[in-house]
Amino acid sequence: MLTIGAFARACRLSPKALRLYDELDLLRPARVDPDTGYRYYAAEQLERARLVAWLRRLGMPLALIREVCALDDPAAAAREIRAYWARVERETAVRRDMAAFLVAHLSDPTAKEPTMLELVYAAHSDRGRVRPANQDAAHAGPRLLAVADGFGDAGGPASSAAVEALRFLETEEVPAGGVLNLLEDAVRGATDAVREVAGDSDEVGTTLTALLWTGGPQLALVHIGDTRVYLLRDGALFRITHDHTLVQSLLDEGRLTPAEAVTHPQRTLLLKALSGAAPGAPDLRLHEARPGDRYLLCSDGLPIVVPDDTIRDVLTTAPDPAGAVGTLTATANSAGGPDNITCVVADVVETGG
Ligand code: MN
Repeated sequence: MLTIGAFARACRLSPKALRLYDELDLLRPARVDPDTGYRYYAAEQLERARLVAWLRRLGMPLALIREVCALDDPAAAAREIRAYWARVERETAVRRDMAAFLVAHLSDPTAKEPTMLELVYAAHSDRGRVRPANQDAAHAGPRLLAVADGFGDAGGPASSAAVEALRFLETEEVPAGGVLNLLEDAVRGATDAVREVAGDSDEVGTTLTALLWTGGPQLALVHIGDTRVYLLRDGALFRITHDHTLVQSLLDEGRLTPAEAVTHPQRTLLLKALSGAAPGAPDLRLHEARPGDRYLLCSDGLPIVVPDDTIRDVLTTAPDPAGAVGTLTATANSAGGPDNITCVVADVVETGG
């Protein structure tokens, strides 16, 4: 047994701190003398005490230190510490921006407040007029927009599994490695989830296209297959994904004209998708977002029957994302609705801060 003084020296905490941690139930002495009230500590408690000392120096609040110390598994404790630090860095980044704004404002009182952006979104998935079932899946939330288009017998479960596997991104902290690493890991998870549905068949699988928003000026994009992302910016329509289809590669090589592509017998043949077979690598990149941008994610059920000009007109005139999604779906259905139709529309808007 060590006296409180000897124990304090060994773990580099003050006796006063040790008394406080006793009261807070962070670190109880092994024995308290009933007559004198002196605290005694066991040598085995040194490791716990050193951990507390380190976490205090890190600036971790006492309540959180108690949670970390209560974890028996060192790997779980490491995860908690990593999550805590990610929060600190994010909060620090917000405070850094506020400080920069204040410095700029005091130097030039006419300077504008920094803009805060958020997504306003709507989603709808529709069976269409011909297919017996809807094998598309979609998600729209404050941070994540995703559409998947399943194929094969278990195409519905495959697309649902892929979207489900990304859902945790709504709340996940962005790690120090950056948002693209996070998204790449998530897609690996989605690939495994699809494989559980598909077995090792390449007849069953899904496309997957998603945008992840982490509050900054950038969207992270992941894309495999022919589910598209369109951007309406300053009245012009851009397609920011490249279809992984045979027809698109023939177009790229100049062996097909756009008019021929529309009627090509193999126009739905995918070169890459998530399936039971070895998957091709998805496209992963960052995309600069601007206030006023309107994004559309859609399965091929929309563009196979609705031309880009019409998509642009609807996106330009619809008052809000829900209106755009409704009109696009109705337009595809009135053109025959030969495939499932899934649309996610999101506006990038400035918030009050
Ligand atoms: Mn489809």
